[in-house]
Formats: sequence, structure tokens, C-alpha cells
Amino acid sequence: MYQEEVRVKTGGETDILDISDEVERVVRRSGVENGVAHVFVIGSTAAVTTMEYEPGLKEDLPGALERIAPRDIEYKHHLRWGDYNGHSHVRAAILGPSLSVPIKDGRLVLGTWQQIILIELDVRARSRRIMVTVMGE
Ligand code: ZN
Repeated sequence: MYQEEVRVKTGGETDILDISDEVERVVRRSGVENGVAHVFVIGSTAAVTTMEYEPGLKEDLPGALERIAPRDIEYKHHLRWGDYNGHSHVRAAILGPSLSVPIKDGRLVLGTWQQIILIELDVRARSRRIMVTVMGE
């Protein structure tokens, strides 16, 4: 088992970063040839998933999230903390904080049009810690 923390800076709400190369580099350093890479963002207002990383979808995904959990409705979370990011937490819970990607012959098994993305869902730019755990042999 090999573990490494990757840090990235996001540019604010619904900023989407392609972190495929960062994860691939960790896999290379792990020396694992066949197994699984687990990617987990620490925090409850960001998410990790896969997407074709192209400009259209970088607008479509935030658009869909706005329809699912709109910014300008009331959230009980605001009564508790007054931080006005209830929609951020709901969106993050739906997308999920983690992803497992198979490793074959030392490489991540991803489609040509499938990148590993981190999406910032909080209402401001943040520094994000991503724990990458590589298992296998
Ligand atoms: Zn909050």
C-alpha cells in the first residue's frame, strides 16, 4: 500500500480541475503495476468524479448542479452556521468525495475522453487536500 497527499488550489465555486496527471504521477511513484488507485478529497464541499474535460461540460455540470440544488433557495444549514453554502454541501454529498480507478500495467485504466476531476463546490476559492491511496502489486 502506498499513500500520498496531493494539494491543489481551486478558483472558486464550480471550478473544475483535471487531476488525472497528479494521480498518475502518484501511481508511478508507488511502483504498483496492477491494482487500484483510490482518490479522496478531504472536506464536505468538494467532489471527485470523472468527466470528459472539455469547455462545454465545464459549464453543463455546474448548470445541472444548479437545477438539482439551486444556490438561491433556503437551506436549514444556513440557520446552523450562517455560512450560506447549504447548496455546496448538498451537491458534494450527491457527487461524492471519492473515486476508485483500476491500474493495469502501471497505468490508470481511463477512457480517452475520461479524466479524473475535482470540482470545487464551496462559495469561495480553496486549497484542497486529496489523499491518493494505491493498492496492489
Ligand atoms: Zn457549511
